[in-house]
Amino acid sequence: MNTDAVKLLQGRYCNSLTEYSRFITREVNIGDVPMGGNNPIRIQSMTTTDTMDTMGTVEQSIRMVDAGCEYVRITAPSIKEAQNLAEIKKQLRQRGYNVPLVADIHFTPNAAEVAARIVEKVRVNPGNYADKKKFDQIDYTDQEYQGELERIYKKFAPLVNICKEYGTAMRIGTNHGSLSDRIMSRYGDTPQGMVESAMEFIRMCETLNYYNLVISMKSSNPQVMVQAYRLLVDTMVTEGMNYPLHLGVTEAGDGEDGRIKSAVGIGTLLEDGLGDTVRVSLTEEPEAEAPVAIELVKRYALREKAKGERRKAEDNNNADEKNLSPLTFHLSPQQHSPYEYKKRHTYEANAFIGGHMVPRVVVDLSAKNLKDPAVLKDAGYLYSPLLDKYNMAEQSVDFVYLADELPSFVFPSNVKQLYSYNTWQKLADKTNCHPVFSLAEYIAPGTDRSSKLNLVRIVPADIESDEFGSLPFDNSLVFVLETTALHGMADQRSFFFKLEELGLEIPVIIKRSYEFENQKSKVKNQNDSPTNDLEFKTQNLQLYAATDLGALLVDGFGDGIWIDAPELPANVITSTAFGILQATRSRISKTEYISCPSCGRTLFDLMVATQMIRSRTSHLKGLKIGIMGCIVNGPGEMADADYGYVGSGTDKVTLYRGKEAVKKNISSANALDELIGIIKEDGNWVEQEN
Ligand code: SF4
Repeated sequence: MNTDAVKLLQGRYCNSLTEYSRFITREVNIGDVPMGGNNPIRIQSMTTTDTMDTMGTVEQSIRMVDAGCEYVRITAPSIKEAQNLAEIKKQLRQRGYNVPLVADIHFTPNAAEVAARIVEKVRVNPGNYADKKKFDQIDYTDQEYQGELERIYKKFAPLVNICKEYGTAMRIGTNHGSLSDRIMSRYGDTPQGMVESAMEFIRMCETLNYYNLVISMKSSNPQVMVQAYRLLVDTMVTEGMNYPLHLGVTEAGDGEDGRIKSAVGIGTLLEDGLGDTVRVSLTEEPEAEAPVAIELVKRYALREKAKGERRKAEDNNNADEKNLSPLTFHLSPQQHSPYEYKKRHTYEANAFIGGHMVPRVVVDLSAKNLKDPAVLKDAGYLYSPLLDKYNMAEQSVDFVYLADELPSFVFPSNVKQLYSYNTWQKLADKTNCHPVFSLAEYIAPGTDRSSKLNLVRIVPADIESDEFGSLPFDNSLVFVLETTALHGMADQRSFFFKLEELGLEIPVIIKRSYEFENQKSKVKNQNDSPTNDLEFKTQNLQLYAATDLGALLVDGFGDGIWIDAPELPANVITSTAFGILQATRSRISKTEYISCPSCGRTLFDLMVATQMIRSRTSHLKGLKIGIMGCIVNGPGEMADADYGYVGSGTDKVTLYRGKEAVKKNISSANALDELIGIIKEDGNWVEQEN
């Protein structure tokens, strides 16, 4: 492998682009559960109770630990809550729970200084630790900027010294939505600004010889979050640092959306060996978060094991590497930078896929009842027998794969049918029907190819083969890229690198196949009853497909996606595919909810409010609605939402249009109607179709 070229491409954000290799960080002591180094990737979550409700917080913490949390974070908005952490800790210890506690601090250095003497770790947000956001200064001279840093150092140093004295760890937790005016003035709300925001605080800690640090770079936009973590690692390596990484996507939402969005962000980084602890933020009960995080990280323990076994076998047999791609890369950062989004340039095939088109979705219906037009409902086409016509749902797939099965009804014209080559060849009417070839079939002499669109199944290693070299290239060709490698994302990514290196602009549909063990779920629904096997498999499909496909889409790779999961209903696969495209912002098909997970600052039932808002606005495709538990952090955290519903007091809500508060402290009973009124005023409302 041309290692120089690989280094050029990857910068220094990960050890390897082709095999799983964990980025080894400094070990940090957090109570008796160390993080980083060779420790397992730790699982954590945050309570949602009022911190002054000691027993409520203790009970909830216990439920979280029992669900798999290895650290419990609790908000400490003021000194009294910080002091009450001592009582919470005492009660937990009396009940036999030694879980390290983390105090979550925003705006209140004095609360942090109290908490740091009590708990095992404090989290500070460098965007608001010593700053109230005033937005009254846009430009800072170098001197003013330096003056600000000195002012912050004076406020921050006492906390660092307390942490040193008490052996308390610290997370420097940057959030995309709450960068300081100082950072915004110089870097804007960019990944670079997020990194610099943390680096300022890290450098102050190092000046004070304090190194018990963990770093996070969260955003509700997985693409921004991924770029920020990569840039952070690169920057740390440049400055000789290797602090552990806490991974999370903020305000991910609930249910399917929350799981997919979290997996796109967190999973993408885990795939490249980054991350020492994971917090999945869902607008659900906090004990629902740990099982999701556990499923996300479980795969990497298996990969480490597989890698160890493979290395052992190689040492013994001097065998060739089996799962690693033999590809070499000669890309420059200009061609593909991991720190900014750039869609891979492809041609448009049949004016339908590639080029500037949104990524297409393929669903396999070959095993379904193809005598009944209602089968297309799961692919987003609703058949009306009365009118004998189809209506398209918001999420209607572009291709349906039928293999060798022939339907006994007429398909809607918007969806293209894909057949295996032999079956396609025999079709009397090929309108809207396209062949799927193996590589060997496609290059065979006398092959009957479509003049419009030909899909060819391929695996990454094929690109080195003689068959690949003899492919007839024209603008009808689209690859269906498959993999059986354990680290399939990297295997498929290698193929994209190689295509770029060869200057081939062939559109690629990324295909992944999933089989799940029969396993009863440990996941609990909101009513705390065990969910069934189907729900467990559905969740894992969302997590794994979002990781594997999302990690490529956030880097601009892929003109289509095809998820194969025979055990799951087609509607689950359709919805997962569109959810991944939405989370990677590559194809918007529904309303986006940026809802916080809630915490002790929340002043209303966020889960109920989220469901209410969703029930009336879920048809507003493309709108982003922020639903935030508190006015202190909510407006900053909801980042680029079009509208915001933010708790501002008991039963009081403030509504936002973008970043502007347009209705302050209105009754929560009317808030949703008022929000809809604002959306209507702006001309962004459409009536829901029945
Ligand atoms: S925005 Fe939500 S999670 Fe964040 S501090 Fe406020 S209530 Fe807590």
